[in-house]
Amino acid sequence: MNIRDDTPKPHFVLVPFMAQGHTIPMIDMAHLLAKHGAMVSFITTPANAKRIESTIDRARELNLPIHFVALKLRCAEVGLPDGCENVDKVLGKEQVKRLIDAYSMLHEPLVSYLHEQRNPPSCIISDLCQPWTGDVARELGIPRLMFNGFCAFSSLCRYIIHQEKIFENISDDNKLIALPGFPHYLEVSKAKSPGNFNSPGFEQFSSKILDEERRADGAVTNSFYELEPLYHEAYQKKIGKKVWSLGPMFLCSTDMNTMAARGDKSSVDGKHCLQWLDCMKPGSVLYVSFGSMARTVLSQIEEIALGLEASRKPFLWVIKSDDTAFGIEKLLDEGFEERIRDRGLIVQGWAPQAMILSHPSLGGFMTHCGWNSTIEGISCGMPMITWPHCAEQFLNEKLIVDVLKVGVPVGVQNIIARTMQAHEVSIVKRDKIEQAVLQLMGEDTDAEKRRMRARELKKQARESIDGGSSYNNVRDIIGYVMAKEMRPKVQ
Ligand code: UDP
Repeated sequence: MNIRDDTPKPHFVLVPFMAQGHTIPMIDMAHLLAKHGAMVSFITTPANAKRIESTIDRARELNLPIHFVALKLRCAEVGLPDGCENVDKVLGKEQVKRLIDAYSMLHEPLVSYLHEQRNPPSCIISDLCQPWTGDVARELGIPRLMFNGFCAFSSLCRYIIHQEKIFENISDDNKLIALPGFPHYLEVSKAKSPGNFNSPGFEQFSSKILDEERRADGAVTNSFYELEPLYHEAYQKKIGKKVWSLGPMFLCSTDMNTMAARGDKSSVDGKHCLQWLDCMKPGSVLYVSFGSMARTVLSQIEEIALGLEASRKPFLWVIKSDDTAFGIEKLLDEGFEERIRDRGLIVQGWAPQAMILSHPSLGGFMTHCGWNSTIEGISCGMPMITWPHCAEQFLNEKLIVDVLKVGVPVGVQNIIARTMQAHEVSIVKRDKIEQAVLQLMGEDTDAEKRRMRARELKKQARESIDGGSSYNNVRDIIGYVMAKEMRPKVQ
């Protein structure tokens, strides 16, 4: 988009929820908007800014007009330890509540910061879980667009579930209920649906979220129109507002350095990872990762290890560093690493996921179905083994397996615990894991059909960002805020 040099750039204020799975796509969104000629203020806090330092440095190197604004979070005032600024740092519901209070106290500092800017703000795009930003937008007289990091399919399900209170008088969390107004018959249970902070103590916050969702001027998704046109249209119609699908947003920067700099500091040397992948046959490696929040108990880690070993397929497996606190070393000491030496790489901690998924040796992805991981997998042409843990991941599994037909479910049955820190599902045994791996990575007609379909989706994903529907939507969203402000027209 060409914005004349003398024209003040439209100024987007991005406020993510401060958890990696929410922050990372909004950083990608910042890159996209900046590359299309907008200015971006990306709101963060000091401890979170430190964690995304390499991402911030990368945006500077690329000379993008993105300002990372670290507003001080008043942790002590709400009774949180200093530096406890991210959802993955808090322990238990009480601390989550305090963190949410601390975020809402950013209202004043944010307004002051924006008042000081020579180029006034044009629009706030903020996470669904930062509903206080609705008041900020109204105070400044600018639109607020809502981002929840879901695809249209799951956003629509979530909207119907919460706005229409479909589980209100249902005591059995596993009872299946048909979703009214969904484009086709779909049953969901409360246990396998995204919550809305509905535990005691969160009532006010939860109703503020729903209220601000209704009042938002529009919504933004990290999906692309061609992936789910039926659900995009239905979601837009249901909420009665424009939905801009801008994804897959991570495709905005696919150079190795930017991909390696995403999120936390990597626990593996990127070069080592690439060299290992280079030694593997094209399309042969299964990547196994459950995102940034889900935690895996040791007995499950053991089953995964033995299932992967039995499959005899090459794999790159990410185990979170806190998972390892419970004795993984013993498991590995017992000769596992030695036995899989020629075909397995284990990363303990944070892996450069975007970089790994983009490597030609990758042939499949065992995922927890977080939307970022899902859309990254789709963009890289990956068929997937679906292993949902919580939130909207069970809905994403339905999309991957039943609608897009690029997935094999590992067969998760029950959810044992649903907390912010531990999403524990019933243990999946090694034989089921082995079976799913062989099914996905095998050579039979079904596996080949899944791969073909995944390749087709990859092509569509790239076309959408490269001059197609998502590209046009970024232009459109910029045009929308400029028209609202009646700034001079873009040439
Ligand atoms: N991610 C990564 N390395 C890791 C774990 C996660 O780069 O070791 C990134 C991943 O690429 C994705 C995000 O973190 O962009 C996780 O988001 P997702 O929605 O998949 O899951 P969540 O972490 O929110 O459960």
